Amino acid sequence: MFIRTHQSASSRLYSNFSLYFRSAARLSQKTYQGVAFLLACWISTCSVLPAQQQAKQDSAEDKHPPKLILQIVVDQLREDMLSRMAPRFGKGGFRYLMDEGVWYVSATHPHANTETAVGHTVLATGAYPSRNGIIGNKWLDPKTGKVQDCVNNLDYFLVGTQKTSAAPLQILTTTFSDQMALATNGKSHIFAVSEKDRAAIPLAGHNGKAFWFNTDNGQFNTSTYYYSAYPAWVSDWNNKKDADAWQNKEWVPLDKPTTYLYYGTGPFAKNMGPYGDAFPHHFGTLGGDGTFYTKLTISYVGNRLTADFAKALIENEQLGSHEGTDYLGISFSSTDIVDHNFSPDSMEGEDVLLRLDQTLACLFSYIDKTVGLKNTLIVLAGDHGSADVPEYLETLHIPTGRLDTTIDDLVTAVNQVLLDKYQVPNLLFPSHQPLPYLYLDHDLIQKNHLDLVEVQRTAADAVMSKKGIYLALPATSTQTNNSNGDAQLLERIQRMHNPARAGDLYVVQLPQWQLGRPPASGEGNLPGAGVDHGSPWEYDTSVPVIFAGARLKHSVISRPISTVDVAVTLSGKLGIGYPSGSAGTVLPEIVPAAMACQDMADEEHCK
Ligand SMILES: [Zn+2]
Repeated sequence: MFIRTHQSASSRLYSNFSLYFRSAARLSQKTYQGVAFLLACWISTCSVLPAQQQAKQDSAEDKHPPKLILQIVVDQLREDMLSRMAPRFGKGGFRYLMDEGVWYVSATHPHANTETAVGHTVLATGAYPSRNGIIGNKWLDPKTGKVQDCVNNLDYFLVGTQKTSAAPLQILTTTFSDQMALATNGKSHIFAVSEKDRAAIPLAGHNGKAFWFNTDNGQFNTSTYYYSAYPAWVSDWNNKKDADAWQNKEWVPLDKPTTYLYYGTGPFAKNMGPYGDAFPHHFGTLGGDGTFYTKLTISYVGNRLTADFAKALIENEQLGSHEGTDYLGISFSSTDIVDHNFSPDSMEGEDVLLRLDQTLACLFSYIDKTVGLKNTLIVLAGDHGSADVPEYLETLHIPTGRLDTTIDDLVTAVNQVLLDKYQVPNLLFPSHQPLPYLYLDHDLIQKNHLDLVEVQRTAADAVMSKKGIYLALPATSTQTNNSNGDAQLLERIQRMHNPARAGDLYVVQLPQWQLGRPPASGEGNLPGAGVDHGSPWEYDTSVPVIFAGARLKHSVISRPISTVDVAVTLSGKLGIGYPSGSAGTVLPEIVPAAMACQDMADEEHCK
């Protein structure tokens, strides 16, 4: 009776109990028991406790689910950066999230290889890389040794061109946005936008539409996987040539230079050529050295263009005004690109966050005026944290360094060790992508009747002999052994191990060390070589996770959570199925009915 009444009262797909009940079958046993319990309490005469009353009240408000899920990823955002920068943020941007949202201050990525595609796909799928298949931005095919990019696909082209492009086909499990499509038979409106294809594509999932910035033409483009031709509004936006308007302009600090933490420090930048290693940075013109659009991405402008395109997308695709809940993923890449080039320990690193704060404030204001923040569930997270640049750490006497060899030279050195021992050359595939993986040629090992496990261990010992290496873990050890007795580290590496894609060795650098080599003489006039994330250490795995909008009540949560919780919490909020490989749990602060249910599920009188 209650169920039918509720169904008729709500016209929205996600708010009906039957859907909620069906999706409950996909919940973890504990949560399922909780949901089933709550339903039972609503239907039966179970005695009502104050907590139950609150749960019912919250549930009544949730009769109208969000009109829009806005999933924001800030590329390279370490958790402590928000606290550090908070006094300098304005109103309405990060402070809206931090002061009015539910801020998880102890969120951690659960995996070891903290790269961009990996983090985005974990946030999108709620699944470990071992399950969703995205174990790096690139990896090698273990059978052939050929490089496989996480999104590049020869079967699809950049729309309107013959240039091969990208698709989400390497993602093996469903995303949260896929689950929205499944719950509506493909009627959901699902979009994602970023400067990077490998950031937009995981968020859009297999059924949504992804757009990304093209540094060849200053446009937001997509592939034939998504469209055969551009929607008119996309062509209109691109024809405005907003990016071109930044010609002959320069990037200067937003605030007084002396207010910056890193004022007077460094620079620790890569060789930035005419763009310079310190403020001001001149964008130049289109006719210059061909790097004009790339320079925009190495500044706050890339994030601003991304937000402007996202606003046009919201308006033209009428997000937030459809029958069901719509989804928009936005990944802001310029924080990452700036940090790689100038380091997080730079005025540029600070400035790009201050500017992103302004961009977020404008975006949230726009959404409030259109969809309404109370109708929008926002979740923001970092795809990974960031490492301090070794040359800066040295100034503070903190142990650090850079691997003193290129990856190719490392492979050559290990192959020499294997040749000396087994008299077989080139047992390691040449690697053209960054560590952590090194791959052995299994056909060669089999043909020469070698013991794979022993060869792995010999190669691991050879890698371990290099200065700056903490661990080189043979793949067989990830299944059967521990890693220096460090269970947490072993778990993070195990969660990377997709059997069809993982390498034979997983290499971990010492804390604070960079696997990238220093610049060779003559490569530039700057002391540093940039800085990379990607380690399993705290600074790379720790990121903020903040939910806001949609009538959430403000709280700061210190309980540790995992980033795999994000996608399943979004599913829980809509009452739809969890992504197929998801390993997380619903965060009770965001889905209070689940909290009430779980808390009460053990109550004897309610069983
Ligand atoms: Zn990233």
